[in-house]
Amino acid sequence: MIIKDDKDMILSYLEDNSGLLNGQADMVYIPEDVEECSGLIASLYEKSVPMTFSGAGTGMTGGRIPTEGVILSNELLKRMELIENKDGVQLKTAPGMRLEEIKDFLNRKGYFFPVNPTEESATVGASASNNSSGSWTYMYGSMRDNITGMELITRSGIKVVMTKENPKFQGDTLFLKEFFFQTLERPLYQMPEVKNAAGYFSKKDMALMDMIIGSEGTLGFISTLTLRVLPLPAKVIECIIFFEKEADAVDFVIQVRSYKKKSNVLRPRALEFFNKDALLFLKEQHSHIPEKAGAAIIFEQEVFDLSLEDEMLEQLLFMADNSKALSDDTWMADTPERLENLRLFRHSLPSLVNEKFKRKEFFKLSTDSSVPNEHLSSLLTYYNAEIRRSGLPSVIFGHIGNNHFHVNLLAKEDELEKARALYKSFMEKAVSLGGTISAEHGIGKLKKKYLPILYGNQGIEEMKKVKRYFDPKNLFNKGNLIDL
Ligand SMILES: Cc1cc2nc3c(=O)[nH]c(=O)nc-3n(C[C@H](O)[C@H](O)[C@H](O)COP(=O)(O)OP(=O)(O)OC[C@H]3O[C@@H](n4cnc5c(N)ncnc54)[C@H](O)[C@@H]3O)c2cc1C
Repeated sequence: MIIKDDKDMILSYLEDNSGLLNGQADMVYIPEDVEECSGLIASLYEKSVPMTFSGAGTGMTGGRIPTEGVILSNELLKRMELIENKDGVQLKTAPGMRLEEIKDFLNRKGYFFPVNPTEESATVGASASNNSSGSWTYMYGSMRDNITGMELITRSGIKVVMTKENPKFQGDTLFLKEFFFQTLERPLYQMPEVKNAAGYFSKKDMALMDMIIGSEGTLGFISTLTLRVLPLPAKVIECIIFFEKEADAVDFVIQVRSYKKKSNVLRPRALEFFNKDALLFLKEQHSHIPEKAGAAIIFEQEVFDLSLEDEMLEQLLFMADNSKALSDDTWMADTPERLENLRLFRHSLPSLVNEKFKRKEFFKLSTDSSVPNEHLSSLLTYYNAEIRRSGLPSVIFGHIGNNHFHVNLLAKEDELEKARALYKSFMEKAVSLGGTISAEHGIGKLKKKYLPILYGNQGIEEMKKVKRYFDPKNLFNKGNLIDL
């Protein structure tokens, strides 16, 4: 085990992409295998030392920023192997593997992992802990939908082995032998039926694993994961379709979604969105964005049967024309090199915004809400009207297939109060439409004060009961999600 206790060496572990400051920790432990890790957790717990788990530090909500105690980093827990069982081929992986390492390994073997968060340097343990997702979530769901097994190191150092079948709640309760058969009660709030990464997952008869996924390290340390993998398609086609008007881009998405229900030819795995301000921002690096573009949709589809490729493209262009797209300006990629260029294009917006934010050119408040399909247009209309009224600069982009947008409000110091009020009202609006306050980045420390908007004070009390069951001394990731 590597131990860092020099103040300068700890500094980089005290930040992530949330912009939160003032992290405090005495030292960083970097275990080199899982046994070392479980021994360490048991001994720290016994001594009542608060411990914050750390991945690569790309989180957006301060989840890995410690308030006190020590840091336990997963960075050297790095094993992975393909396994084959009754459910087919799967990937068994340690939590410190980065998503890009998993992607390279699987691609070389002819497979891919169907969850693709934009930030590929993130670790898979943290991604499970946050229930992360990406553009392909439109087709394949989030981490929760693609994890088939897990091991959780609990406060006593014991590992609880979990699958989708076992352990499972009987209705609203569960008795775990690892916790002396004490009763665990699930929160009784109603989860929004949208892409969601806010708070403890809760559903009648659910698997315990589904609650651990997305619990942001507050219930224990994820030490092993088994992931669903899929065979690589023969080809992937991705295009960026530009529209003069945002409403036409939205119309295109609605058309494609309704057509997808009947067609087995047009089946996108991703539908992504940039508004006009986002395109203007991107023009700094990509001057060839069409002058007239007022919005863009990124459409991505796997082709398993090459004989259907032409038909699929025909249908896609027909729909784009129908929605008044600037069809002559469409960018198309179907070779690995061009696909990588488009991936970098897509990635460059959040990175550009984050860089400017880190250089303190402005403060950034970034929403992460999603809403049910029927509220897509009304949500965007609401965002646009309120932003216009506020006069604040902003960019809107995100996973429009899941009605999930990141509205980045870019405020100067003297505009912060106004920006915060707007930011909160956007979350309230999304929840009032049956949506969530966080669809993928989680709650961490940054958004916990807003969690009652979604689950009410009663819901927060029920989450606290879950926390106390796993962590009665409140030592795991103290300050994330809820305060005890
Ligand atoms: C440019 C950019 C783009 C992004 N795009 C996406 C995106 O498309 N989708 C998305 O979902 N997120 C996205 N993110 C957010 C971020 O990458 C994810 O939240 C990711 O899961 C963080 O991984 P990490 O290894 O950096 O974790 P960290 O930031 O180090 O930690 C995140 C959380 O995980 C906990 N944790 C770490 N390891 C463990 C463990 N073994 N057991 C239990 N808890 C643990 C930490 O305590 C913390 O609460 C983006 C971030 C950036 C900067």
